Amino acid sequence: MTSRVAEDVAARAAALYAEALIWDDHSGFDPQPHAELDNLDLWRAAGVDYLSIDAGYDVMDWRTSLCSVAAYRSWLKARPDRFVMIDRPTDVWRAKREGKLAVTFDLEGMNVLDGDVDMVEVFYDLGVRQMLFAYNRNNLAGGGCHDEDVGLTDFGRSVVKAMNRVGMVVDCSHTAYRTTMEAMELSTDPVIFSHSNAWSLCRHGRNIKDDQIKACAATGGVVGITGIGLFLGNSIASGTFVDHIAYMADLVGPAHVGIALDYAFEVGGIDDLLTAHPDYWPVSEYPGGSVGFVPPSQLPEITATMLTRGFSEVEVRGILGENFLRLASQVWR
Ligand SMILES: [Zn+2]
Repeated sequence: MTSRVAEDVAARAAALYAEALIWDDHSGFDPQPHAELDNLDLWRAAGVDYLSIDAGYDVMDWRTSLCSVAAYRSWLKARPDRFVMIDRPTDVWRAKREGKLAVTFDLEGMNVLDGDVDMVEVFYDLGVRQMLFAYNRNNLAGGGCHDEDVGLTDFGRSVVKAMNRVGMVVDCSHTAYRTTMEAMELSTDPVIFSHSNAWSLCRHGRNIKDDQIKACAATGGVVGITGIGLFLGNSIASGTFVDHIAYMADLVGPAHVGIALDYAFEVGGIDDLLTAHPDYWPVSEYPGGSVGFVPPSQLPEITATMLTRGFSEVEVRGILGENFLRLASQVWR
């Protein structure tokens, strides 16, 4: 490409990125009550308008996840000039105008319900807008992606119905194949894989097969591409990230693709965390020596790469945020 063409694409990308809604559907830092939340300014500085903050996962006791939600709420409410917890999807546009990062929470694994389906609505009222079934290992709701492939349990079925009723988005990331297919069959609302890449491009157990991607799109759902190098194919290059976007867009259409970087700012502690819990992160899948994460600051370059690959501006806007916004508008009550 000539430099003039490259400059033209870069200028178009910068203008588009500034104007578009930027929706990151999942943060990746360790969801502890004492997490260093000042790092959320990394997303604001990168021009991100909305972030779903991971507030708990199956690796922790459910009480700790609840305490994380409480601590995050308190911290965010004390900083109304920078952050806003939103109730309605369209509130993201006001947050963008005011230069604030709009947030809601997500939960990775249904251990957090402590076996009580009524907890779904409690967490919804606390700001949780999406929850996945099982974090890598099987649990009371269904199968995890690094465990024996069991289906959705009776408890998992009752949770899907409760999520559909209260307006919480059903999320199939980290979950075993059978459970995801049964959940997508059961849900009456669109279903997401909040942060999962294409298995056809990177054969890791966390990534998803073509028929899972197709089943998700058939519900009206969206798959968020994650920036974890291990799941992209041992690379955090923008070109590799866009390879996964393009693969899914070719398979089911660009309206079913979004972004969920899973960015962890506490990179230094990640290997220690994984080593401490080989049951959740088997060494065969996580050999150590992290290849890193795509940071939010790389999103403008990813935007330019999408334009270079021939995505239209409307398609890029959808992938950067409006696809997940559309889905939230359909599901949140
Ligand atoms: Zn995750």
